[in-house]
Amino acid sequence: MGADPSQLGDARIDGQIIARVFRFARPYRWMLAGFVVVLILEALVGVAPALLFKQIIDDAIPEGIKTGDRVSLHWLAGLAVAVALAAAFLGIFERWWSARIGEGVIYDLRVAVFDHVQRMPVAFFTRTQTGALISRLNNDVIGAQRALTVTLGSVVSNAIVLITTLVVMARLEWRLTMLTLLALPLFLIPAKRVGRRLRVITRTQMDLNASMSATMTERFNISGALLVKLFGRLDQERDGFAERAAGVRDTGVEAAIYGRTFFLAMGFVSAVATAAVYWIGGALVIDGTIEVGTLVALAALVTRLYGPLTSLTNARVDLLSAVVSFERVFEILDAPNPLEDRPGAVELGAVVGQIEFDDVWFRYPTKPMVATLELDPNVAVPSNHVVSGADGDGADGDSDGDRAGAFVLRGVQATIEPGQMVALVGPSGGGKSTLSSLVPRLYDVTEGAVRIDGVDVRDATQESLRRAIGVVTQDPHLFHDSIANNLRYARPEATDNELEEACRSAQIHDVIARLPEGYATLVGDRGYRMSGGEKQRLAIARMLIKDPAVVILDEATSHLDSENEALVQRALAEGLSGRTSLVIAHRLSTITEADLILVIDEGRIVQRGTHHQLMQLGGLYAELYRTLVGDESLLN
Ligand code: ADP
Repeated sequence: MGADPSQLGDARIDGQIIARVFRFARPYRWMLAGFVVVLILEALVGVAPALLFKQIIDDAIPEGIKTGDRVSLHWLAGLAVAVALAAAFLGIFERWWSARIGEGVIYDLRVAVFDHVQRMPVAFFTRTQTGALISRLNNDVIGAQRALTVTLGSVVSNAIVLITTLVVMARLEWRLTMLTLLALPLFLIPAKRVGRRLRVITRTQMDLNASMSATMTERFNISGALLVKLFGRLDQERDGFAERAAGVRDTGVEAAIYGRTFFLAMGFVSAVATAAVYWIGGALVIDGTIEVGTLVALAALVTRLYGPLTSLTNARVDLLSAVVSFERVFEILDAPNPLEDRPGAVELGAVVGQIEFDDVWFRYPTKPMVATLELDPNVAVPSNHVVSGADGDGADGDSDGDRAGAFVLRGVQATIEPGQMVALVGPSGGGKSTLSSLVPRLYDVTEGAVRIDGVDVRDATQESLRRAIGVVTQDPHLFHDSIANNLRYARPEATDNELEEACRSAQIHDVIARLPEGYATLVGDRGYRMSGGEKQRLAIARMLIKDPAVVILDEATSHLDSENEALVQRALAEGLSGRTSLVIAHRLSTITEADLILVIDEGRIVQRGTHHQLMQLGGLYAELYRTLVGDESLLN
């Protein structure tokens, strides 16, 4: 999580990254140039009051005493007010300007990263720790933004302020200026120490906070909360949380003390330096070497040196952690996407729906895409996905044992004709889901090819490919949004009538119509919770609205009650007619009605044919069928 400043001491600032950051900020180069101009103006306006006061003390007042003429006093005082006003406006303008640059760049970066991540293959999401990814998208992008505005802005502005102030001071009285400079390191070294410690504390604080909120996000969603309750782990959860919260509390106290110390140290340095200037400068005035006004101006200017000097001494560390933030964001942007459309990929037009598996061999990818986001092998995987490489070998995927690297599909050869309903059956883990996920190109085959209407899916644009295919999973995901909007996700321009028609066909309209808010009812995590059967019918309706030529359906394994079963049955009859469908079948009725049954075991098609043919053949299918019949007769 970000850079630990205590470890940055020996790190180098990578020139390539800086160059890349500048390339990223290229559209803003004129704004950046304007920003520097504003900073220079601000620095100049900043030294003006001291000079005006010197004029008042050395010229206007003595002249007034002599002649009684107060015109120059009025003018100079008025000018000082005007300068103060200008400084205020410039300050606001500078903040607005830098915010526009920073927010602009962060906007570009965020959108680029979001888009890149969403285009990554499914394997990326199954192998990536979502929390770490989100945190990187949030924290590091913000770190990068801070780098560009705050850090870069403050380095440039501090340098300008320092130079202008020193030049003006030296012109007023160079010996005194040299003296203040000689004394400065005495104060800067402790300030640097405290500053560094403060930064470490702040970083720890951020990390602890992130971990605390991660715990809350994970425990306070419905499934997390249920799990905690059902396993009776409330006390342990409280203790775990309390431990994190205690960390946040302790670092908070430490941060407060160090923050205050830092602040007071700065005030102390500035007070001592001012006293020193008056002390030594006072002697010079008595000697007649300098005028009183010069002394006052120098005393005022000397306080302008510490802030910039302190932050410039820490600038390297600031810049380094900023560079690390950029590095981490670029790491995601640079992760190659193996599922990128080929140059010259073809648009699939009106798809007829022939699917061909041509000697398909497949193994799940084991190489991590962004190594630092890899799932920690020691942490339980929260989904039902088997994560390959889980044997703890971390970053290098090559030494995975046979288990992860083994072929999941081994030479699958089959052709599905347009309009056919094909049932995939076989023991769990045989490779049915894997095979069906190759059609919409969620993964690429390792060897062989998958073709739709004769076109290799790797040669088609992913957009047109996915337009041609509708997928209904066992547990379809609904966004936290109205039913209508969830349905329209398939086709935003669908009319209300079309939605209703699809829902009637999918046997779900009556259920929706009975809800108090009908199609406007919120569903999803925190909305109306539909039953499994209802959800699946809604997903079928969503698929109907999309109207694809090819349908992939993963039937619910959990048994639906007979009413739901009948409804889903009718919904499917409507939904699948006229389309090519690949069904991972668990229901007897689907299997017996299929035009073709592919029996899949250990990554191969071991039997194929219609129900009758396969029953006569005997073997694995007949066995599976008998178990299913036994199962169903138990239920009914
Ligand atoms: P089925 O659908 O027939 O139950 P699957 O296609 O889900 O079978 O699984 C086939 C094999 O692939 C299983 O051994 C499973 O553990 C493995 N597998 C499934 N998903 C992944 C994944 N994301 N990474 C690695 N292996 C996986």
